[in-house]
Amino acid sequence: MAEKVFNLTRDMLDPTFADLVAPDREKLLTCIQCGTCTASCPTAHAMDYTPRQLWRLIQLGLKEEVLSCNSFWLCTACYSCTSRCPRGIACTKTMFTLKRMALSTGVAKRHATAHFYEAFTETVRRHGRIHDVELMTIFFNKSKRLQAISYTRLGLTLWRKGKVSLDAAGVNIKRLDQMEAIFRKAEELERKR
Ligand code: SF4
Ligand code: SF4
Repeated sequence: MAEKVFNLTRDMLDPTFADLVAPDREKLLTCIQCGTCTASCPTAHAMDYTPRQLWRLIQLGLKEEVLSCNSFWLCTACYSCTSRCPRGIACTKTMFTLKRMALSTGVAKRHATAHFYEAFTETVRRHGRIHDVELMTIFFNKSKRLQAISYTRLGLTLWRKGKVSLDAAGVNIKRLDQMEAIFRKAEELERKR
């Protein structure tokens, strides 16, 4: 990413941001910017801000800049950063929190990855596992409708070879009620946060 200069005026900064984001604010503030988290991260190369840069932006309170970047959406939750951080900072959990915050503030709508997450949970909740065609239909419908056209040929080829099924009901697991119970419990826990 090209070098970016921030005008750190009071209007741009949210001093409460670090409190809201980090599971342990005090620890996050002890980040020494060593870059071990970034060096350990398999997806840092594709992020708008590397994990190390992200922690600094959070410390400064640049809430909008953080929530509108793609970094946390690309986190695969591999925990390498967390296990190697010399300060014991809960980097991965912080990435989870950023995802939740971006969704609840509406900022996430700018990122296709957020739509993919939504499509994924929608189809898993309905069937207990992934139905590929439904997943991609929901995803394209939410985000990139025109891009769906370029995948039509691939979809047809896969269907002809029996690699994907159009029968959504056919993929249902036996105890769908248990899956629904898991989702309800997760929603209940989310409300308590
Ligand atoms: S590894 Fe830990 S201390 Fe080092 S930059 Fe990352 S978060 Fe900060
Ligand atoms: S948990 Fe996320 S941020 Fe940390 S190293 Fe893995 S992908 Fe990168």
